[in-house]
Amino acid sequence: MKIQYQDSTITIFESALYQTTSTIINLEKFILIVDPNWLPIEISTIQSYVEKIRNSKPIYLLFTHSDYDHIIGYRAFPDAKVIASEAFQNNPEKEKIIEQINNFDDENYILRNYPIEYPKVDIIVSGDFQKIEIENTALVFCQAIGHNLDGIFTMIPSLGIFIAGDYLCEVEFPFIYVSGIQYLQTLEKAKKIINQYEPKILIVGHGPFSKNKKEMLDRIKEAEKYIFEIILSIKNKTPFNLDFLLKRYHFPKNMIPAHEKNLEILEKELSET
Ligand SMILES: [Zn+2]
Repeated sequence: MKIQYQDSTITIFESALYQTTSTIINLEKFILIVDPNWLPIEISTIQSYVEKIRNSKPIYLLFTHSDYDHIIGYRAFPDAKVIASEAFQNNPEKEKIIEQINNFDDENYILRNYPIEYPKVDIIVSGDFQKIEIENTALVFCQAIGHNLDGIFTMIPSLGIFIAGDYLCEVEFPFIYVSGIQYLQTLEKAKKIINQYEPKILIVGHGPFSKNKKEMLDRIKEAEKYIFEIILSIKNKTPFNLDFLLKRYHFPKNMIPAHEKNLEILEKELSET
């Protein structure tokens, strides 16, 4: 499995699928695993790596949000404690998410040596800038809504780590499954986090990390620009420049329907305000 980034504390694995990341953080008193994902061989690489560095420390699993690709490896770490948002815990669509995993495995003839289940949350986070001490390390959480309904941002201030889930990804424009307006508010929060905590590293759900503050802020600007351009094109009834957008991003087969979905959601939102 590709290792996208590694230092003495952090390892970012990158799946062959959608460049989805699985991050392992080796803290003093515990191992934090973020969104272990996708193929069985990738999950088993992550398991072996964790066993190798673990030193009998407890494992905590952090789920950035409940999209099925991010929770697919849950039961591969059966003794882990789970950290996720209150909305994640109360997600009314748990069954649908499990069905998406089962469909994916079915379509691709994938067998797994662990059961597929929706995560049970042990440490529930809610609200913004909520600080929780885990095994003597402070973690700070913010709600991150817009992409989906139950996302969280996680900061580990002592290590300068900012885990943003599917926001601020360099490989894709914002995928708005819930609300463009809330997405913009979440981007504001990300800006606040970056300016307040000056993270040394930004880890995202798909594609490359960043260690550069300007690049982190530029990713926010680019996401905002994209959403504002959609809003303008709806308000002015002018066409959105899709060709220009697709020059910047690869994989048009996925990007075009994602953009159309974004348009649909924003049109609905704007017609309600
Ligand atoms: Zn994702």
